[in-house]
Amino acid sequence: MKPQPPIAPRTERGVVLGVDVGGTKIAVGPVDRAGVRPAAPLVDPTQTEDAGSFLAGLEATLRRALEEFSPFGPRAIGLACAGTVDVGRGVVVASPNLPLVEVPVAGAVREALGIPVTLENDANAAVLGEAVAGAATGLRQVVMLTLGTGVGGGLLLDGRIYHGAHGAAGELGHMVVEKDGLRCHCGGRGCLEMYTSGPALARYGAARSGDSQQDPDGALRDLERRGALTGEAVGRLARRGHPGALAAVRELADWLAVGLVSITNAFDPEMIVVGGGVVGLGETLLAPARDQVRESAMAPGKDRVQIAAARLGNTAGMIGAALVAWEALGHGGA
Ligand SMILES: [Zn+2]
Repeated sequence: MKPQPPIAPRTERGVVLGVDVGGTKIAVGPVDRAGVRPAAPLVDPTQTEDAGSFLAGLEATLRRALEEFSPFGPRAIGLACAGTVDVGRGVVVASPNLPLVEVPVAGAVREALGIPVTLENDANAAVLGEAVAGAATGLRQVVMLTLGTGVGGGLLLDGRIYHGAHGAAGELGHMVVEKDGLRCHCGGRGCLEMYTSGPALARYGAARSGDSQQDPDGALRDLERRGALTGEAVGRLARRGHPGALAAVRELADWLAVGLVSITNAFDPEMIVVGGGVVGLGETLLAPARDQVRESAMAPGKDRVQIAAARLGNTAGMIGAALVAWEALGHGGA
């Protein structure tokens, strides 16, 4: 394999507009070559009726952004979307929350706006963002696991985003961790997502609601009665030291460790970055999971792999999307 240069912040003038295209909103912000954002992003709602209205809405938002951020000198646009993306063709093949099937989004925007455009999957963009400007700065072997409503993943191998044969690699939330386990949204059973997502944390909390030992003040039961027993609510109780909520977090940490051990054994990464809303629990979640990796993964990875919370939060996709476009500019075109 051809040796790749290390990922390091470089100094080039101007900015690229990083665009996080979500199912409800589009966030666009200027990002410099080092992954730094010199201004707050512009945010618009996503048009999701059909592909035509989606593209028209995206173009209108980007025209506004090019105007607003023109003092920074935008040189290209980097898009990140949820779903399966054919990076080479700039096509969204399929998306869980956008009305796009085989839509050449990058080409359409490039043609409409006359500026270089790249397209990447949002989780892949996020791992690049964390490796240039976040928790894994300067590292080349990085796996990202995002724990939210669902569980996503991204792979940075030898300093490059790994896409797989069809652009769909890195779906770490759908590694099967229990044969004949819980039915997953993907159609499979026993996926990691069903045991380490926000809804899973809510489920672990509900299982302890009303227990005299684990829910002595009835806080879990009250939340359940009000229909407010979410993963976030369990997390808030855990931070206050509630025994049942802490036990629920510990159960999630046990399952997270199952995923982290497999990832460590499969990829031998320098770091696994854990992101998404659930990681707001911080070391309460990560410390026990890390202990189990030290105990159960294979050497030398088990002692060497770093397991860290993401640093860029919900800006990782935007920053990473821009960095993809910066890379393309460096190679003579986006
Ligand atoms: Zn699944």
